[in-house]
Amino acid sequence: MAKAQARPPGVEARAGKFPGPSLIPALHAIQERVGWLPREELVALSRDVRRPLYEIEGLISFYPHFRTGPPKPVAVHACRDLACWLQGADKRIAALRQRHGPDAETEIVEVSCLGRCDAAPAVSVNECPVTAGDADTLIAAARDGELPPAAVRSYAGGDRWPNDPYGPAAQRYGVLRAVLAGDLDSGQVITALQDAGLRGMGGAGFPTGRKWDLVAAQDAEPKYVICNADESEPGTFKDRQILAEQPHLVLEGMLLGMLAVGAAEGWVFIRHEYGPEEAVVRREIEALRAAGLVGADVAGTGRRLSVEVFTSPGGYILGEESALIECMEGHRGEPRNKPPFPGVYGLHGQPTLMNSVETFAHVPVIASRGPEWWKQQGIGDHSGLKFFAVSGHVERPGVYCVPMGSTVRDLLELAGGVAGGRPLGAVQPGGASSNFLGPDRLDVPLDFGPLKDAGTMLGSGAMVVMAEGTDLLAAATNVLRFFRDESCGKCVPCRVGSTKAHRMLTGLLAGGGGPADVDGQISELEQVMRRTSICGLGQVALGPVMSVVRLARGAGGAQNGQGAGGAQNGQGAGGAQNGQGAGGAQKGQSGDGA
Ligand code: SF4
Repeated sequence: MAKAQARPPGVEARAGKFPGPSLIPALHAIQERVGWLPREELVALSRDVRRPLYEIEGLISFYPHFRTGPPKPVAVHACRDLACWLQGADKRIAALRQRHGPDAETEIVEVSCLGRCDAAPAVSVNECPVTAGDADTLIAAARDGELPPAAVRSYAGGDRWPNDPYGPAAQRYGVLRAVLAGDLDSGQVITALQDAGLRGMGGAGFPTGRKWDLVAAQDAEPKYVICNADESEPGTFKDRQILAEQPHLVLEGMLLGMLAVGAAEGWVFIRHEYGPEEAVVRREIEALRAAGLVGADVAGTGRRLSVEVFTSPGGYILGEESALIECMEGHRGEPRNKPPFPGVYGLHGQPTLMNSVETFAHVPVIASRGPEWWKQQGIGDHSGLKFFAVSGHVERPGVYCVPMGSTVRDLLELAGGVAGGRPLGAVQPGGASSNFLGPDRLDVPLDFGPLKDAGTMLGSGAMVVMAEGTDLLAAATNVLRFFRDESCGKCVPCRVGSTKAHRMLTGLLAGGGGPADVDGQISELEQVMRRTSICGLGQVALGPVMSVVRLARGAGGAQNGQGAGGAQNGQGAGGAQNGQGAGGAQKGQSGDGA
């Protein structure tokens, strides 16, 4: 067992900055009731919770979900981040504007990734997800007040996935029941994770068993467990599908984590755009409560296990683990300096175990089938199974669960190949933060090490495919725009650097320039941002651009060493470093250019 780590001096003071309950749920409640956040409601809230109005307004201005003006009857949110941009989002949005306003009834807002890249170009109408092609029908329905409730897309069904160890619903939660009955020690679960070599699937790739062991070793009480379901990086939507189809695995993994580290409270932190999936998770928690596996006295053991849902108020940065915690505590979601890490000093200053949706879903699989079974699922020296979201120029965008060590080519073939049978131009194998790979790297195995060696990373498990003929510099500039919009603004290199670099690149593209025209200034900016930004967002924002420049020079995507535990990733569930981006400072900025 790992040794408890001492907290660095001074961090306790930070925990008491804003004592009391988080304001975020209270703001959600007002907006749900009224439709927006009128000033008189905020004044009343400020009085009730004895918190200054400026603090409440500081929160509202940071989080994109909160609105300070009444909504129009029809709110259309349209994404034009990479996967949607590749599918002609700009033209579709222009057409929507032409047909539907904005007018007195309809507002059309460009937003960051909606997590529906498989249905690109993605649009939502009054928060009901839809493809741009179907938007007209839903807009008409919304105008008539007949918008159907948002539903989870129907997927192929549970037994489609090779990882699920359970058959009928009644047989689920077998590992949890065994631990509660004393037939299995939760320490054995940690050992199984360590033996299986499971690493965090949110992006940073920190060894999961080690993380659990570290939190279990902390003396401080209480402890917390958080499931990071805030994937927001363009191209990334695998956790959405896991939540929709395998909520039992995610929740069983969380509850096993709670038992292993000694936590009574667990939270599923989920992005607000995942309303249908949130409903699935809430139903599963209720079923657990009814079965006596969540509550004040689980399975007659006298132990309390509580699991609640925290709906994110928006912003990519909240996937970064310390920003997520800041949000849950009721602050602006700005990443903390680390160390201390959340395992020592997390939610409310207490030891906190945080993993991503996919990581938790793998836990009961490994605990029930054993680490050897898990290792054998991979190809060659690679261990286990991996979920990937595939989008962009492919025939069948979607989520695929493949053996770790499958190649880029294997995954591309599963997704039906490049759309229209065109040759491949490039892929981003690990989400928006990852460096581009050219068509000569199709046989790179999909795993942390090989992708790092190839100069990119596994990241958030999202492969975005670009056909030959795609303007790769424009595509990378589109990614940079996303990071610029999502920068939380806390540190200057990221806030100013991303804006400046984007302006330079859009100017270059407008003048007909290409990768060969990217000059030393951009390269210098990339280095400064990578070395001096606090979190992964600023550190990788210009990485994809520079990888396109290297590809054009025939130097491959490599060189600047992305990789497993690197500064970047798709979700902040990892250990040391990570980076999911932002949300606040540039709220509402939809950007220009690519
Ligand atoms: Fe915020 Fe960017 Fe700094 Fe991260 S790097 S803390 S997103 S300003």
